[in-house]
Amino acid sequence: MTAGGRPADPGPAHAENAFTVDLEEWFHVCGGGGALAFEHWDALPARVEPTTRSLLELLDRAGVRATFFIVGWIAERYPRLVEAVRDAGHEIGSHSYRHQRVYELDRAAFTSDLRASIGALKAAGVAEVRSFRAPEWSVNDRSLWALETLVEEGFTLDASMAPLKMVGSVIYPRRPHVRRTGAGPILEVPPLVADRFGQVMPLGWGWGLRMSSPRRVLQAIDRLNRAGIPAVLAVHPWELDPDPPRVRLPAGLRFAHYFRLAGFADRLQAIVSGGRFGPISAIAPAASAMT
Ligand SMILES: [Zn+2]
Repeated sequence: MTAGGRPADPGPAHAENAFTVDLEEWFHVCGGGGALAFEHWDALPARVEPTTRSLLELLDRAGVRATFFIVGWIAERYPRLVEAVRDAGHEIGSHSYRHQRVYELDRAAFTSDLRASIGALKAAGVAEVRSFRAPEWSVNDRSLWALETLVEEGFTLDASMAPLKMVGSVIYPRRPHVRRTGAGPILEVPPLVADRFGQVMPLGWGWGLRMSSPRRVLQAIDRLNRAGIPAVLAVHPWELDPDPPRVRLPAGLRFAHYFRLAGFADRLQAIVSGGRFGPISAIAPAASAMT
């Protein structure tokens, strides 16, 4: 975490962007069900180690330090991988334990999943966990109560609310902002979206990031930075898998998971090498000054 209390410099030239990774397996698909259900996870082909190591090398080549939101189930099974992430200088946050949509849980179930994720990360040697990203951006109008739970459990930053209709709402702010809860404030840091063809598209992650040229992504980030707004990108290790296991998924999920993976590693390398990225907490001081 960056030092708290340091005066923020909100000058556009100093706008910092965040690069984030949701560290999960290829089969951590919300709503995947069937063969991808939790009880089958241990029997499915494991890909997370080589794909995460590729991502670590990619970031290292660009000299970028990122935030890795790690699924607790992964941390429990691959403590050495968590160590490699930490030793490379990256920040570590929680991506839940069982990778379930928050709005499909009740508050007690969310709390216990969150605690399990913190426990798994601590057992893997992570000293503190202050940042959270929900699976599938699932903190939205149906689950705003989760922000209060996060504050109660010691989190200071949430990166789960997407300003996009499909998983969140187009009226959510596109810049980091403070949300008040009954337990105290939390900094909400949304992912990068862009307006295109009258729609809002996920320019900073998923199919939107994969279909866009590095030049287009970097230009959009530059425009935001000139307005003093940081951009947040998010990727998954499985997006760098040269030969991902194929499973039958509903059409929307199939698109989200398999669309234009070819060549993505090269495009991503160009993006991270061409921009100014850091861990998500590094944009927090400037963000707090904005609210
Ligand atoms: Zn995820």
